[in-house]
Amino acid sequence: MSNKGHVPTGRHRVVIIGSGFGGLFSARALKRADVDVTLISSTTHHLFQPLLYQVATGILSEGLIAPATREVLARQRNAEVIFGHVNEIDLERKQVVAKALDSTETYDYDSLIVAAGAGQSYFGNDQFARFAPGMKSVDDALELRGRIFGSFELAEIAAAAGRHDEVSALMTFVVVGAGPTGVEMAGQISELSRRTLRRDFRNIDPTVARVVLLDAAPSVLGAFGDRLGSKAQQRLEQMGVEVQLGAKVVDVDATGIEIEDQDGEHRRIESICKVWAAGVQASPLGQQLAEQSGAGVDRAGRIEVQPDLTLPGHPEVHVVGDMISLDRLPGVAQVAIQGGRYAARQIKRGLAGEAPEGPFRYKDKGSMATISRFSAVASIGRLRLSGFVAWAMWLAVHLVYIIGFKSRITTLLHWAVAFLGRARGERTSTEQQIYARLALERLGDDFTPSLNLDRNAGERVEQTVG
Ligand SMILES: Cc1cc2nc3c(=O)[nH]c(=O)nc-3n(C[C@H](O)[C@H](O)[C@H](O)COP(=O)(O)OP(=O)(O)OC[C@H]3O[C@@H](n4cnc5c(N)ncnc54)[C@H](O)[C@@H]3O)c2cc1C
Repeated sequence: MSNKGHVPTGRHRVVIIGSGFGGLFSARALKRADVDVTLISSTTHHLFQPLLYQVATGILSEGLIAPATREVLARQRNAEVIFGHVNEIDLERKQVVAKALDSTETYDYDSLIVAAGAGQSYFGNDQFARFAPGMKSVDDALELRGRIFGSFELAEIAAAAGRHDEVSALMTFVVVGAGPTGVEMAGQISELSRRTLRRDFRNIDPTVARVVLLDAAPSVLGAFGDRLGSKAQQRLEQMGVEVQLGAKVVDVDATGIEIEDQDGEHRRIESICKVWAAGVQASPLGQQLAEQSGAGVDRAGRIEVQPDLTLPGHPEVHVVGDMISLDRLPGVAQVAIQGGRYAARQIKRGLAGEAPEGPFRYKDKGSMATISRFSAVASIGRLRLSGFVAWAMWLAVHLVYIIGFKSRITTLLHWAVAFLGRARGERTSTEQQIYARLALERLGDDFTPSLNLDRNAGERVEQTVG
């Protein structure tokens, strides 16, 4: 079905793909522009990815870090929000095709901003995902929450029945990737077991849970430099996290993980709950845009954009955020936010008949990673901070970027409960959260979710599953 000229006002039509940092901030920057904005995204929320690990470990609820995009943009009269997964961009026709369940719509644009982000990369071993979920979406975080808390539950049963080998595998948590997400995740699992859960069980002692942080690289938090990396490693080790570096993951299955060490030796860690926090792969839309425009893509599928974030021969198309490869810019929120705002400014300048402002210049505002409550590392300009001061800065910066006053206040309360006290208010998980990935895998690619509620739909699904 074609839906040409979706907002029929005759104004310049800006289509934005993605409701993450790049998409949302570019839409907001167009608030006062004389344009019609159509923001299309495959999720109905704006996800604050840096706090996903707190959803996975029971500190925050998913709603606090993923407000409805429609609500965020409700007061922006020139913007509409469309739920849909874009699977086709036609640069010649200036059209975008998006699918929501079994309905397909086409949207025309005059300007396009593509901010579809990146997914998890398993470096060519996608079969690992089944046993070691990544940390990219609300689904991932909720599935991990179920697996983490569920492992303690199963360990309690196994311990009561005297199955001690099982207990040890259930109480060994392996986090792959010692970047900020891996460090935060390992630190939080350790705090969870040693503080929050320590009195909750009768047959196991959660404080002896083993938390292993693995990386093939020789250091923790490589991008933060040696000094902060060593500080982070020291703090993790004080908390009981085993840091194993130069350790390459070669296989992952339901009950463990196979590792090749630097000397070529192979070993195995028995562990039921594994978390994958290594590697990203840009949205496949990057490849599509590259084929049509002649731009290159790097190994992570990021598209090589022009210095003004446009595509060669297509000044009307900007690509921003995690999808781009330009001047070795990192995949962080500020690159997406500043890129989104820059793209919006170029569109406004073009409409006002002004010359473009020149190449995109990223202002590095620094990077931070938390390790535990009251402890973080921060690298801001020449400043290298660690410990409580860095943690207080981390807290302030994250509060500023959480969308909405209500969410900020509630997040602050949840943090007080978790960091000053010992409790975590978001420990609920459902069977669907834990098993949905496996169930969808079983249904296979032929399964198309549909709201076409005809009587035989259920039977057809059963036939597909066989
Ligand atoms: C666990 C984790 C922790 C992080 N921590 C930090 C941190 O502490 N500090 C920091 O600066 N950065 C951090 N990052 C990185 C930061 O979140 C990203 O750099 C940033 O989100 C990139 O913004 P983006 O707009 O390019 O993509 P995203 O925010 O990923 O948004 C992509 C959007 O596109 C939508 N989309 C994708 N494909 C399609 C499609 N085909 N059709 C329609 N919509 C589509 C998605 O639903 C989403 O709304 C973290 C990332 C993760 C995963």
